[in-house]
Amino acid sequence: MAIANVTIVGLGLIGSSIARAVGERLPLVTVTGHDASADVREQARALGLCDRIADDAADAVAAADLVILAVPVGRMADAARVMAPGLKADAIISDVGSSKAGVADALAKALPDHIVIPAHPVAGTENSGPAAGFATLFEGRWCIVTPGADASADAVATLGGFWEALGAKVETMDPVHHDMVLAVTSHLPHLIAYTIVGTASELEEVTESEVIKYSAGGFRDFTRIAASDPVMWRDVFLANKDAVLATLQRFNEDLTVLQQAIRRGDADKLEDWFTRTRAIRRSIIAEGQDDAAPDFGRKH
Ligand code: NAP
Repeated sequence: MAIANVTIVGLGLIGSSIARAVGERLPLVTVTGHDASADVREQARALGLCDRIADDAADAVAAADLVILAVPVGRMADAARVMAPGLKADAIISDVGSSKAGVADALAKALPDHIVIPAHPVAGTENSGPAAGFATLFEGRWCIVTPGADASADAVATLGGFWEALGAKVETMDPVHHDMVLAVTSHLPHLIAYTIVGTASELEEVTESEVIKYSAGGFRDFTRIAASDPVMWRDVFLANKDAVLATLQRFNEDLTVLQQAIRRGDADKLEDWFTRTRAIRRSIIAEGQDDAAPDFGRKH
């Protein structure tokens, strides 16, 4: 199935990056954009993000072969319901939400007569809004597609081909498994960063100006993640509650192991653990999922 018209609903970091990437890599595809916020629609027009920005959601999707919902996870069902009257019967509806099982359920209920194939491009930054996006965001990154059991192979292949055209590598996964994997690789790290940065700012013995002044000791790397969009992340934790709580339980147990090792002066335990984690960092670099430059390539 060929895609001639794509509509992106939600023109923040991810939606605007898709629009830019389609503009650069699929110049024959017409892109229509819509956002619930009039201010965001104005910014998108000023940035020239899409061929057309529609004020009305149903109008935005009227010609679409593929619709991508790029709104916070908790807003997916609303966004789907509002656009539903405008959808073509054979349009493929997908999304980019960071959790998948709940979104898949919500979209299936909101659009019972349409082809829904959820997906998650595992790519992002701590910034949000239409100005924050960029065309190369998905290059070399994974896009996980989580089709339901009844999804047509043709439609899944069409969606996968779209993401590959934007430079992503595509993998298909069960939505519940996706949520468990992402709880470990993304959601728990964000929770830990939000915790550390919050804790540091409330310590009585260390002043806030000292925390900022000496942040190069490790703290500042957590602050990048802890600066991520509050609404998006509120919704991710609410939507992926079970997997996050299960992973957090394991994390707490492992933290206790390290706590005991420090208290007991167990040097071997600490060194073994840190040697294993360093190997994981090296594997990520070897896979091309991060840069090998020291200190994340910061200029000194
Ligand atoms: P963002 O920059 O905040 O953009 C979301 C946009 O959607 C905002 O302009 C928002 O407008 C708009 N919106 C909210 N509800 C809407 C609705 N019902 N209809 C139309 N537009 C609506 O967020 P983002 O970072 O692009 O995230 C979007 C999605 O991508 C989320 O589901 C997130 O889980 C997923 N994702 C994010 C990342 C990342 O690193 N950021 C990575 C992968 C996937 P208002 O601001 O006025 O509400």
